[in-house]
Amino acid sequence: MHDLTRCVHHPAVNTEGYASLAVATHRASTIVYPDAETFSQRKYRGFDGYTYGLHGTPTTRTLEAQLSELHGGVRTVLVPSGQAAVTVVMLSFLLPGDRVLIPDHVYPPVRSFCEEYLKPRGIDYGVYDPLIGAGIGALIDERTKLVWVESPGSGTMEVQDVPAIVKAAKAKGALVGCDNTWATPLLFKPLAHGADFACEALTKYVGGHSDLLLGSITVKDIALRQTMKETIRAMGVGVSPDECALALRGIETMGIRVAHMGKVSEDFARRLTRSPAVDLVLHPALPSCPGHEFWARDIKRSSGVLSIVLKPGAEANLDAALTALKVFAIGASWGGTRSLIAPMAVKGDRTVNPWTHQGTILRISIGLEDPDDLWTDLDAMLFKLENATAAKVA
Ligand SMILES: *Cc1c(COP(=O)(O)O)cnc(C)c1O
Repeated sequence: MHDLTRCVHHPAVNTEGYASLAVATHRASTIVYPDAETFSQRKYRGFDGYTYGLHGTPTTRTLEAQLSELHGGVRTVLVPSGQAAVTVVMLSFLLPGDRVLIPDHVYPPVRSFCEEYLKPRGIDYGVYDPLIGAGIGALIDERTKLVWVESPGSGTMEVQDVPAIVKAAKAKGALVGCDNTWATPLLFKPLAHGADFACEALTKYVGGHSDLLLGSITVKDIALRQTMKETIRAMGVGVSPDECALALRGIETMGIRVAHMGKVSEDFARRLTRSPAVDLVLHPALPSCPGHEFWARDIKRSSGVLSIVLKPGAEANLDAALTALKVFAIGASWGGTRSLIAPMAVKGDRTVNPWTHQGTILRISIGLEDPDDLWTDLDAMLFKLENATAAKVA
């Protein structure tokens, strides 16, 4: 063997006795076969077999299996983002002439996908009041193949009566998908409440460090998994084992991160109700949050995201007050170690229940900083806003 050949042939080393607690990162495009016969038979390896890097390596399989266990499902499909987790379900189970129902508070890019991608292709959508509960039954016609649920809802935190919606949808033969990103499988398991798809933006609490993008769809019916795998296979969509390795590291600490963030977010939510600059605090653990009773019945604990509606007039000082923050960072997405805050536009995204609050909405994601430092920062910001509203009243 010459050096150039040696350069591309990695020598086999002894792995006996090697056992690590870390999951190895297996990167691959090509999968090699021991002989020509095995290669020609590769399509019979099934969806769990290894045939091509795009369709999975032991690293991606480990993350899939771990999420399936946490959700009480049979299989998990990994996709490149949380948004893709939603769109892959819709693209896999909706055909021209079909209809999907989405809640009014849905993650805004999902509404855009329905309007701008599905509708021109003959797939209709309807928007429903997130608190409709069993009343969803009246909106499900024979074309409605999928009911989408997101609980609590993006930004405004309405908690949905998932069991009631599932029951009504099942009675009419519709599938139910649940975006479970706020709760994570630690606080709520949609499949145990009858949903067909449990979707997570792993980008948030599973990744946990603001440095990866991934999504997952867990199912308890293997046939649903096959259909979704065929969709992403046809589209050429797969995930990077490197991202999965980061998610596998993140998931180890998710339990203590989410528990801590949940405690701090509940504490801050209660304190924020007493701030003169705040009109309304939206946190599922507060009785004032729409659907709080379903949180108390089905979820019971919190993660770290909440929103506040500011008193009208506060926006005059808002940009300066946000820029002056020392501990909170300004940014979208959430679930990482750094606390985030971001103004949100909600009004233009509501078509069923008009958003009538006048004040600006701020979404807050609690991170792992010392809670006293966070509160001091938030309090200073609210004080600046409070002075703005006072000035306007005067
Ligand atoms: C962030 C988020 C998504 C999208 O996740 P990405 O990985 O950023 O695409 C979907 N649903 C909810 C509820 C989210 O918060």
